Order: sequence, then structure tokens, then C-alpha cells
Amino acid sequence: MSGEKSKGNGLKIMIIVMLAVIVALVVIIAKISTDKSPDPGKTIINNSTSDPHSGVMTALPHNTDGSVITSEPGVTGNDPAVTGDQKTDDPETATVTPVPATPTAAPTNKPSEELKLVDYSGIVEHVFTHSLVAFPELGYPKDISNVDKVMNTYFIDCITVPEFKAILQALYDDGYMLVNINYVYEKDGNGVPRLKKSFKFPEGKKPLVFSFDDTCYYSEKMGRGMIDKLVIIDGKIGTYTKHKDGTVVQGFDEEHIPILDRFVEEHPDFSFNGAKGMLCLTGYDGILGYRTQRVSDGDGRTEADRQREIEAVKPIIKLLKDTGWYFASHSYKHGLMERYSTDSMIDCATKFQNEVIPLIGETKIYVYPYGSWKRSSDGKTCPGPQRVLNEMGFEYFCSVGANWYANTRADLGNIILQDRANIDGTAFVWFQDIFTNHEETGKPRFPSINFREIYDDARNISYDDAVAAYKEWKGIS
Ligand SMILES: [Zn+2]
Repeated sequence: MSGEKSKGNGLKIMIIVMLAVIVALVVIIAKISTDKSPDPGKTIINNSTSDPHSGVMTALPHNTDGSVITSEPGVTGNDPAVTGDQKTDDPETATVTPVPATPTAAPTNKPSEELKLVDYSGIVEHVFTHSLVAFPELGYPKDISNVDKVMNTYFIDCITVPEFKAILQALYDDGYMLVNINYVYEKDGNGVPRLKKSFKFPEGKKPLVFSFDDTCYYSEKMGRGMIDKLVIIDGKIGTYTKHKDGTVVQGFDEEHIPILDRFVEEHPDFSFNGAKGMLCLTGYDGILGYRTQRVSDGDGRTEADRQREIEAVKPIIKLLKDTGWYFASHSYKHGLMERYSTDSMIDCATKFQNEVIPLIGETKIYVYPYGSWKRSSDGKTCPGPQRVLNEMGFEYFCSVGANWYANTRADLGNIILQDRANIDGTAFVWFQDIFTNHEETGKPRFPSINFREIYDDARNISYDDAVAAYKEWKGIS
């Protein structure tokens, strides 16, 4: 009996061991396949028509007539503050901070926690761009004049996927490391926000804030070259686009978020404490490609539609936050602040507070649409619309300006005002010098950014022709 029993036990043990081996093999195979997928270079294309939002998308206008896309809400084109005709920094109050001779760090590929921290007391650069033109054939019309080509809002305000990848590589090569904007400022003894004079940062690295405006994927732009919305694919942020012919493109290679996520995976020393980019959101047409805004008469939506969109966007916001992305207000309506009354600002800011903040959480950062802000009438008194924003808790305000500027402004009610250098078509054809060296100091700024090399011919006009057409448009000799 005992022999039979032990034989039986031996058989059981053998079966258990074999099962364990099979389970282990299955786990290993599954791990390998999830590690490989998603492949960032691979675009998943299917012809699914089962998307519940397809009704919304196919009903939207498509730019197939070759017409020029003129400047629209959500982009910063044609605004003097953006194009450099009007600098936002006040020469009287601007502080020119000397640029430290920071050596360019050799790529270490180590996460920032493993790098030696030292006191950093130089400037914090801040650059921004818009959503990428993922489908250049839709964004850049061919059969129009050269001037019309460079006046196209996607030419002026946007960059393409290869351009964005080249920019990331150049920033990395220049020793920059992404930092969360909330880390670089503090309050003084009187509660006035100011940039930190020094903070701990990895040795040899330079902090960089990278912001992305209008990550909303407005309805009016669908079918014109950008993605439709962010989605989660295999546990990661990916993109979804439905083309006019019904083709659906999903993947990780069409928009800045998944591309930057991948870049940081491959270059952990491009991100300080996991920081990625700042996503600047309006609210009037929802966020991140989801129509979460209030239902209004005639927009063809029901409250149930809206609630479905809200539920759909929540896990995306959570995943973004969990992976280092953070949010700023870009107003609710994307209007020119210079034209706002105090009452219209109360309305705009309250709508943002009611419709967007509950989704993204609190933020102290405000990014002026078009870089437009209201100046003090006497150089001392804070303008009413600015006061509204200050009282709602915003502390750090971002405008647009190719030259570096950041300062606490008493005339705006003791807030920080910072200019952000635009990385877009305008910069490509005009700002090379500013990107190479700091204007005031002549010291290297982004020496590896060479716009002529980065320029993507998918813009349907050569670099030299674009420079000439831009000058012709602007009347620059
Ligand atoms: Zn904008």
C-alpha cells in the first residue's frame, strides 16, 4: 500500500512540476509579447466601423478642397505676441539672468534618481508646441501658392512627427531634462510666488519645461491632419483617428504624448523625477478628444452623451497623471484676453472651474491663449480680468515669446509671468538665431536645434521657399 501510495505521490509531484513548468513558460511568452507590443513604430490600422463615436466624427467637416486653413481658436497663429512683433517682456522689469556655463551632459541613460543632485541656479527654459500634424497629406495642401502654404495655421503653429522626434533628440543632446513646472517655483514669506533661486537637479543637466497647447482635438479640426483623441492601448496612452473613408488608425506614433513617453523609456535621464509635459487645456469643446463640455442648444448632444464622454476620459487622465503628465488651464473659451472684460473673464474662468477642474484636478498654472494678456493701465494696478484669475488660485502664468523671460510681476497682482519659446513653423523659418544662442548673452541655448535640418518636406514646400514666402507675407526684406 505504502509503495503504491508513494508511487501515486511521485506521479502527483511530477504532474505538479510539469504544470508549473507549463505555467512558467506561458508567463514568459506572455511577458515577451507584452514587452514587444505596442511597437511604437507600428501603426495599427483597421477598418472598424463599430466605434460608438463614429457618428460624431463622420459628421465633421473635412479639409479636402485644398483650401487654406486659416487661424482658428486653438492655435496661436497671426497673433502679434506669438509672431514676435510684440515681446511680452517689459524691458523695464525684465531680469536678465546670466546663463550659467552648464556643460552638456553626456548621455547617461540613468533615471534621475540615480544621478548625483547638485544645486542648480540657472534659468529654466520653457518651450511649447501644439498637437502634431500626424497626417501631413491632410494638413498641408499642395496646390496653393507658397505664401498660402506658410499662412496655413498648421504650417505656422505646428510640427510634424519626424520634426518632433528630431526636436526631442536635439534637446536631449543639449543636456536638457524635463522638469515639472510646479517644482521650479515657491512662495516667499509674504505668499508671493517666485522662481526658486536654486534647487536640486542632476549634475550637468539643464531643466526644461515642455508644454503642449490645446490638447483638446477640437471637433472643427477633425479630418485635417491631427489625431481625433487619446485612447488607452495595452495599458499605455495611444491615439485614435478615424479617416473620412472609414479607416481607423490607432497607435503610438501619431502624437507627442506617446512619442515622448517612448523617448523617456529609452532615455530615462531626459525626465527629472518622472516629469513629462504640461498639457494646456481649454474646455469649450471638451478635452483630450472627448466632448465633456456642457450640453448646449443645437449641438446635437444629450446629457447622457456627455456623461459617457466624461466616464471615457477619466481613465486617460489618470494614466496621464500616473505617467508624469500634468495640466494647465488654457482658459475655457480660448479668447484674446486683451479683449476680455472682468465679467467675461469671470464667466470663462468659472466654466473652466466647473467643467474641467473636476476632471483634471487643481492647477496653479495658466497659459494665456495666443499669449495674450492684459497690461496694467498705470503700471501698478492689476487689471480686472487678471485679478479674477489670481483670485481663483492661479499663480504661474505663461505667455509666448521666443526670448527667455520669467519674473514675478507686481503690476499683475504678484504672479509669475513667463514666456515660452514656440517650436513651430514660425520658429523654423524665422527664429533659428534665438534658438541657437541667447539673444542677450550670446551663450548657447539649444545649439543642437537646427531647424533647416529638422524641417520636414512633408510640409509640401521646401525650406528655402518657405523662408522666402514667409518674408514676403510679413513684408520682411
Ligand atoms: Zn491655444
